[in-house]
This record gives sequence, structure tokens and C-alpha cells, in this order.
Amino acid sequence: MQETIRKLLQLQHYDLQILGLNRRQEALGNRLTAERREFDEQMRQLEAERDRLQHLRAGLKELELELESRQEKRQQLEAQQAAIKRNVEYKAMMKEILDVQAAIRLTEDKILEKYEEIEQEKQQTTVRDNELAERRRQLDERVAVVEAELAEIRRQIEEAKRHRAEAEQLLDKGVLRLYRRIFEKKKGPVVVPIVNRSCGGCHLSVTPQTENMTRHYEQIVQCENCGRIFYVPDEPQGESEEAAS
Ligand SMILES: [Zn+2]
Repeated sequence: MQETIRKLLQLQHYDLQILGLNRRQEALGNRLTAERREFDEQMRQLEAERDRLQHLRAGLKELELELESRQEKRQQLEAQQAAIKRNVEYKAMMKEILDVQAAIRLTEDKILEKYEEIEQEKQQTTVRDNELAERRRQLDERVAVVEAELAEIRRQIEEAKRHRAEAEQLLDKGVLRLYRRIFEKKKGPVVVPIVNRSCGGCHLSVTPQTENMTRHYEQIVQCENCGRIFYVPDEPQGESEEAAS
């Protein structure tokens, strides 16, 4: 294999490593953001449930006040009734008392209903509260793990960048420019092997001449279709002997 190709492959190794690390960094960041957003959404639901509970409790308070005032009214009427001597008035008062009593029962029923609603809502809120506490714990754990992972990725990127700078130093400026131009376009491998008479990048077939040139000439040979730089992989040593045995 040509020396230039060897150096290019070295550079490419670090470039691809950095590319992969950057992608992983981005994916991890995105996932964490999504998980945080989901948690915030659940938190908002809990807040809404708490608001509903508060609203229900306010409703209960109103009903209790209503009940109280009706009970007072009944007491008043009963006291008035006791002072009445005439039968007609007494009966009229009786009717009024019965009406108030009916209203009291109605309010009592409503209060019971409200209690049930509150109980249900309270249970639901408690369940969600516990769920969220658990999720908060999990999320905190996860954030710690992901942040450690991200720190490690950043460290690896720095290291790969140092190696990449060294690898760039070894290359001819023109070759480096060509390589960089293709890398920017492809965001992936630039130096590709010819495998089974086809380009290892775009898979288009390669003429025997091109393959020969790549194998034997000192110049850089590019794919006519995708522009990537070709190399012919070295034959693994000992393969023919193994095949013979
Ligand atoms: Zn190609």
C-alpha cells in the first residue's frame, strides 16, 4: 500500500472516530432533553390535579357553609313555630320547615358526593406524586450517568483531535485539502477499498485499469462516480497457506 494512503487512513481513522463521538454526544444530549421534557409534562399534570383538588375542596367549603346556614334557618323556624298559637300559621310554618329540611338533605347529599370526588382525586394525586418522586429519582440517576458518559466522550474527542492534528502534519497539503473537501461532502469514509471490482463507498464497478493504477501507481486514484480515494487492501498474510492446508 502507498505511504500516502497509509497516512490518509490514519487520519481518516481519527476523523471517523470524532464523527462517531460527536454523533453519540448529540444523541445523548437529545435523549436527555426529551426525558426532561417528558418529566416536566408529568409535573404539569400533577399540578393540574392539585389545582382540581383545591377547587373541589373550595366547593366543599361552600356546601358546608350552605348547610350551616340552612340548619340555622331551620332552628329559627322551629323557634318561631313554637311561639305560634294559630293553627293555620302553624301549618304554614310546618311547610316551610319541611322545605328547609329537604334542602338540607340535598346539600348533605352533595357534600357526600364532593367528599367522594375529593377522596378519588386525592388518591390519584398521591399515586402520581409517588410515581413522580420515583421518576425524579430515576431521572437524577440517569442524568448523572449520561453526564459522566458525555464527559468521557468529550475527553475522547480531545484525544482524537490531538492524534488527528499529528496525522495531518504528516500529509502533503494538497492531498490533505482534497481529502478534507471530500470528507466535508460525505461526512463519512473518504479513503475506501476496492472490493470485488467495485468502489467501497458508492459500490459502482471499477475498471481493471483503475484497480491496477490504484495497486501499483504512486498517485491518488479517485472513484469516477463519488470522488472517493481508492486503495487496495493488503493481502492478509498466511491466507494462501491456510487455504492450501
Ligand atoms: Zn465511488
